[in-house]
Amino acid sequence: MIADWMAAWADPAWAEDYDNVGLLIGHEQQEVDTVVTTLDVTEGAIDYAAKVGAQMIVSHHPLMFRPTRRIVDSDRDGARLLKLIERQLAVCAVHTNMDAALGGTNDIAAERLGLLDVCPLQPVNDASGAGMGRIGSLPHSMSARDFALFVKKVFDIPSVRLIAADPDMWIYRVALCTGKGMSFFRDACAAGANIFLTGDVTYHEAEEALTGRVCILDAGHFGTEQPIAEAMAQYLQQQDQRLAVYPYLQARDPFMTL
Ligand SMILES: [Zn+2]
Repeated sequence: MIADWMAAWADPAWAEDYDNVGLLIGHEQQEVDTVVTTLDVTEGAIDYAAKVGAQMIVSHHPLMFRPTRRIVDSDRDGARLLKLIERQLAVCAVHTNMDAALGGTNDIAAERLGLLDVCPLQPVNDASGAGMGRIGSLPHSMSARDFALFVKKVFDIPSVRLIAADPDMWIYRVALCTGKGMSFFRDACAAGANIFLTGDVTYHEAEEALTGRVCILDAGHFGTEQPIAEAMAQYLQQQDQRLAVYPYLQARDPFMTL
């Protein structure tokens, strides 16, 4: 049921080919009265789920992203899989299908920025209006430098990295792709963005972008995607008031800013 509700929001057909989404671990007919939502199925999230008596974890990032050839506790994924199965915790992942979904990771980011006339950078091939990335306009233009500070504030993150030939350049059209999004940078440029907000920008990508006219703001993978844990919890609660839903909000960015 939970996996079906998530699929009704984020259609698995929208997931990228490389992705694995849906119920990853668990009995399909298992009764669930308590759910934890999280960005990642970390040790902390698993312990939290066990503490609140959950039967299921709904995560954005799939746990088994690489091929799993053995399940042993000396391996990171192995240890987590053993723990999940021993504690009878099911896992459902809604990943790139949630990035594409209306109200998903990208829409949440667009909404936090107050963007107007938002539409996907790469629409999916159906009439849903979903798609990867978003582009929209700021209600008021601002400098790239001020936009960077604005993003820090609205995402409540300690730092961002601005890649701009001129940090005082005027920003009006904003494209974004939460998480690791540089593969959509060309779409952002083609769509007329002044700045592209994403995470996981590499040195060479940044260096190359300096020669162009579109700025990049790296707000981190964690920083741009962590809000989905709470959004998924709110959604599930709306589906069934009797369900106990706990977003795992103690997660922290693996990168520490000093
Ligand atoms: Zn991600």
